[in-house]
Formats: sequence, structure tokens, C-alpha cells
Amino acid sequence: MTFTLTSLNTPFGLAMFATREHVGGTWAVLLDEQNPYAALYAAKAQGVTRVIEAVSVQPCDRLLEPGDLLIPSDLVDLTHGRRSTFFTNRGYGFIGQAPVWCPQTRQALITAAQAITPRTFVRGTLAVGEVDTQIEDARTWNAHALAVTSAPAAFLAKELELCYAVIAIVGGAASERGNAVIAKLMQHLPDERTCACGSTMQPARERGLISDDWRTWIGD
Ligand SMILES: [Zn+2]
Repeated sequence: MTFTLTSLNTPFGLAMFATREHVGGTWAVLLDEQNPYAALYAAKAQGVTRVIEAVSVQPCDRLLEPGDLLIPSDLVDLTHGRRSTFFTNRGYGFIGQAPVWCPQTRQALITAAQAITPRTFVRGTLAVGEVDTQIEDARTWNAHALAVTSAPAAFLAKELELCYAVIAIVGGAASERGNAVIAKLMQHLPDERTCACGSTMQPARERGLISDDWRTWIGD
């Protein structure tokens, strides 16, 4: 695989991730990303348009086994104390969160995952909490798996008009199966971005609230 390791200093700290060129634009792979602010800022600065995060999860659903893959259809944010926007103290309006994941990137992940293992689940809610969030708490929200990353990344990515989708891997994201899906993904990413992710800020743009330079969009 020809991934390029990118390391970049940002106003939010150092970011490190792998990128790969594709006719449809550069994509980046994050792994249990603890600092989505730096990672997504750096991805945007590198000209990335699609971001995939491999996320380690604990199962909430008793049917899920170690190594199983979940491409979640929904997200429950049980985090607390995390800054969930780049646009603090800016009045750009509300960005809709449905669908929460880029549908086009998610579909490519599903196809790639299904080619790797039949133990791929494509309907399910991912809960994202803190390290002390209990499985029982996630279950009360009807979550199927519990992670500690991908929120607020899913919201932040929208603010920077990036496609973002996750593959949740029961037991651990740094796994052979996870790597195999990422390797396979290249064949399944569409050449053209037909999702709406690239124009989430269009209403603010049309109202003259933001300039063409996305760096100036970010709040204090
Ligand atoms: Zn998209």
C-alpha cells in the first residue's frame, strides 16, 4: 500500500495520520484519534477531502464478537467536556447532523468490509463516551458498541466540509482485519464526490458570513 505518513503542526497541536491519493481526491485514515481538532485541521490543510477513522469498540450487543466489524448507521454522543465545534463564538448557524456519517464514504466502507468478512454489521448505533463510560450506560441508549473516539470528530468534519465515516472494530482498531478493509477501500471509493459533505457551509457562504479561506472560519 502506498500511504503517506503526514505529520503537521496545527493550532490544536501535532497531527499524524496516513493519507493516500485517489482520483476522487486525497483521503486520510485516522486510528482511534484522540485529537480530532488537530487531525481534521491538518487533513483539511493537506487538501484531504475524505476521512476514515478506524475505531476500537467494546460490544454492547451480545451478538458482537472480537474482530467483528461495525459500520454504524447512527451515533450517540455520551462524551462530556469536549469542545464539539471549531466555531466557538461564531454565529454561522446550525449544521444538520443527519446523516451523521458521509453516506458515500460509509457505503464504500461497507462494500470493502463485506469483501473481507461476513462478520460485518451495517446497522447499529455507535455510542461514544469517556474512558469511564459504562457499557450499561450505552445500552440504555440502544447502542450496539461503545467507543471513546469519533465524537466530536463527526461534527468537526462537517464544519470543514470533509467526508467522514468510521469503521468500528470490536476489540481493537489496530488489527489485521481493520488494515485489510482500509487496503480494500481504495477500490470502492467513488471517483466523484456526490454527497453533500463538500457544501455543508454553503448557507453561511451565501450569507457572506465566511470567506473562502477556511482557516478564518475557526473561532477562539
Ligand atoms: Zn461525503
